[in-house]
Amino acid sequence: MFELIKARLGHGYQAIPDPLKAKINEAFPGLPRILSPDREIFSNAAEICPCKAIEGLSIDLGKCNFCGECQRLYPDTFRFDPDFRMASQTREGLIVRWQEDKLSSSVPVVKPDPALAKLFGRSLALRNVSAGGCNACELELGACSNVNFDMGRYGVDVVASPRHSDALIITGPITENMAIALKETWEAIPEPKLLILCGACAISGGVFAESSALDRSFLVDHPVSLYIPGCPAHPLSIIHAICSLLGRVK
Ligand code: SF4
Ligand code: SF4
Repeated sequence: MFELIKARLGHGYQAIPDPLKAKINEAFPGLPRILSPDREIFSNAAEICPCKAIEGLSIDLGKCNFCGECQRLYPDTFRFDPDFRMASQTREGLIVRWQEDKLSSSVPVVKPDPALAKLFGRSLALRNVSAGGCNACELELGACSNVNFDMGRYGVDVVASPRHSDALIITGPITENMAIALKETWEAIPEPKLLILCGACAISGGVFAESSALDRSFLVDHPVSLYIPGCPAHPLSIIHAICSLLGRVK
């Protein structure tokens, strides 16, 4: 018995004190910054980008898989900061652009939604549909509820049944084989409900975007409340995005 207590005390306090302000490992390739608007370099980088995320003087975070190749080849033009705050309420908001007037690149933001905060600010149950992804986004979503990240402290939990949930969070590029399951899960969630896309695959198809095995028609007539980039999305990105939407980030 005493050995068990000793072992437990030895574990110490493992939860990150405040995931919304946490410092992330310096090596983490998060929010990209455009350091200079060199069109020739952008054009060369677009050629080598495996996700077609570079276009004009912009990087589409909804497509990028954060491979770091553009930064490795052109460090004076691209820099990926260890910043996990990359989500947006709009698809357009995920496009990081060079802003000539500000001599810097734009930054995605999630603004608190007072109506959603009133409904779900104290409790939000998420149901995940893994729609053909590689399982890494699902693992990171699962990690949000572990002892380190402890998303439950904000009243946000992943639940097993769509009937007990308030939001559908999709991971994976949405394959034909998952299209019906996705639709039925959405229909089983009671109103009011939110739709969240987590990871490059869910947002744009990611590296599978051109596959003929996808059926992304579900997204045509279902409005999305939150886009969370990453490949996979980091637990801190997921927690920060949801808490920002629900007005939990000061
Ligand atoms: S880090 Fe993103 S933008 Fe750069 S090459 Fe890789 S996928 Fe493309
Ligand atoms: S976005 Fe990346 S990590 Fe997530 S399911 Fe797709 S390939 Fe896997």
